[in-house]
Amino acid sequence: MKLVTFTHQGSTRIGVVRGEQVVDLHAAAPDLPREMNAFLEAGDAAGEIARLADGPTLPLADVHLEAPLLRPPKILAIGVNYADHAAEAQQGGMKIPEYPVVFNKQSTSAHPPHDPFHLPRASQALDYEGELGVVIGRRCRHVPRDRAQQVIAGYTVVNDVTVRDWQLRTPTWTMGKSFDTHCPMGPWIVTPDEFGDPHGHDIKTWVNGELRQSSNTKHLIFDCFAIIEHLSTAFTLEPGDLIATGTPSGVGIAMKPPRLLVAGDVVRVAIDGIGEIENAVIPEPAETARIG
Ligand code: ZN
Repeated sequence: MKLVTFTHQGSTRIGVVRGEQVVDLHAAAPDLPREMNAFLEAGDAAGEIARLADGPTLPLADVHLEAPLLRPPKILAIGVNYADHAAEAQQGGMKIPEYPVVFNKQSTSAHPPHDPFHLPRASQALDYEGELGVVIGRRCRHVPRDRAQQVIAGYTVVNDVTVRDWQLRTPTWTMGKSFDTHCPMGPWIVTPDEFGDPHGHDIKTWVNGELRQSSNTKHLIFDCFAIIEHLSTAFTLEPGDLIATGTPSGVGIAMKPPRLLVAGDVVRVAIDGIGEIENAVIPEPAETARIG
């Protein structure tokens, strides 16, 4: 099952994608929550209702796809989690990690799968990181890796957009990873029964049609289940939490010379078994400045 958050005629709600159509869950099953975090929180019973929903559909082409998780409770991410990326990052002083390198992207960075993201006013050092996203479906803590699959609601494509100078000029990466619009995700959440083993899927990133990253999720250093075991040792994971599992080699900063993103570039990230997200880069608009 492919779960989406979409806007149609000014109203935002969730649906199930079947082929080129979206089943409008609010119309097909009005008792279900209209918002993804609440829907995931409602558990397997809600999932079964959605799976069997046989209601009005809208053409996918007629709706605006939003980030499937409009505001994840947490966006967690793992740094340097593919051996080949660790090797290229090593030239910048990073080592293959003994423990998962965990950082946060602020939940306000969540962004739709096809809308442009911002080249910030504060920096020109903008980069892409194509990644597999894991979506948590159950409130959980102390999850052993052999039970981790039970807490996964599904998988999505993430671009862990990064402002490199802001990332690397301080010991923690939070600022450079968290600019508004810098977590494009989607186009939907694919449930585990459809996605299968998460550790055998091709992942690719293109910039303006040029292939920059090409790997497979089997090369993750800490796999999805190990990551869940590790994170949940320390804190509660909640329905709607997103974990970006790390990026393979081929990021712009590691190229010689570096090839960072500029306004007008188009970045596409695809994962076999999910689909793809594609976002243009635009200068940060003046109207982002606001108080209240
Ligand atoms: Zn990343």
